[in-house]
Amino acid sequence: MGQAKTWGIGLLSGGLDSILAVKVLQRQDLKLTGVTFVTPFFGPEAGLAAGRSAGIEVEAIDIGAIHLAMVKQPRYGYGSQMNPCIDCHALMLNVAGRMMERFGADFLFTGEVLGQRPMSQRRDSMRSVENLSGYPDRILRPLSARHLAPTWIEREGLVDRSLLLDLHGRGRKRQMELAVEFGILDYPQPGGGCLLTIAGFAARLRTLLALCPEAGPADVEFLKWGRVFRTGPDGLALIGRNQRENQALERLVRVQDTFLQAPEVRSPSAVLLGFSAAAKGLRLTALVLAAYSDAPLGAKVRISWRQGDTAGELLVKKLAKQRFLGFIS
Ligand code: SF4
Repeated sequence: MGQAKTWGIGLLSGGLDSILAVKVLQRQDLKLTGVTFVTPFFGPEAGLAAGRSAGIEVEAIDIGAIHLAMVKQPRYGYGSQMNPCIDCHALMLNVAGRMMERFGADFLFTGEVLGQRPMSQRRDSMRSVENLSGYPDRILRPLSARHLAPTWIEREGLVDRSLLLDLHGRGRKRQMELAVEFGILDYPQPGGGCLLTIAGFAARLRTLLALCPEAGPADVEFLKWGRVFRTGPDGLALIGRNQRENQALERLVRVQDTFLQAPEVRSPSAVLLGFSAAAKGLRLTALVLAAYSDAPLGAKVRISWRQGDTAGELLVKKLAKQRFLGFIS
């Protein structure tokens, strides 16, 4: 029986660098598997596509709950928005590392390039990521390996270090040349796709977590749809901006949330999130909904609401939208 191939498990974000990392390792006789992650802030689509492009199998793992817990309290803080990139990389490598142990694989790899990103790809932060992940010495960065200390897998001669690369810094020229050399034609832009890096979303997330520190992934899903309104010191509501958002909000409603509509006039839909103080929040949400309806100013607008098995109606006066701008988050 032939000897089992050395087996690497790679983090596939879907960007060009993660595809190149696979391609560089494919120059050696290795078994390679990809892993990509699902959280409320990014999905697996790009990673799965990268696997198809590189010709390896990719497993998508939902880490929404532990990832959100990490986002709330990252050890190494945030980047320019609410992106805790060092902790995020470490968490993904920890999950991949446990997968490596379960499968009996030998090493982990990523498409990181030394010095490419200001927060997470400095030499010291790469070391922090390794230590925090629980798998220092098992993480190979094929694109920058020649600038980094040899890992266990290289020292053992299971991966040939001389076939790895020495990319460094923010320039993308060599990656572009490699993409041409490997025939990679289609790939997403680096860093795209993570909502935590987007200022508007990060502001909404900060508001949610300030009001409800226990918020879970299902609460975060709401922030992707509609305008966010604070309904008081402890309440949050969302108002759809178009039919697609109204439908999405209705789909996401849980038994603890209150769903509001104005059945007699063209208007958006709204959701008052479950942790919000009900009575005051309900009235304010109804007023906002009426303000965003097509009813004439000053008209009485009937608002119907339901929460779980309970339902009711409110009659509110249509006020000008401007009255509520201070509540938008
Ligand atoms: S950009 Fe987002 S997905 Fe990428 S490491 Fe940072 S927090 Fe994680």
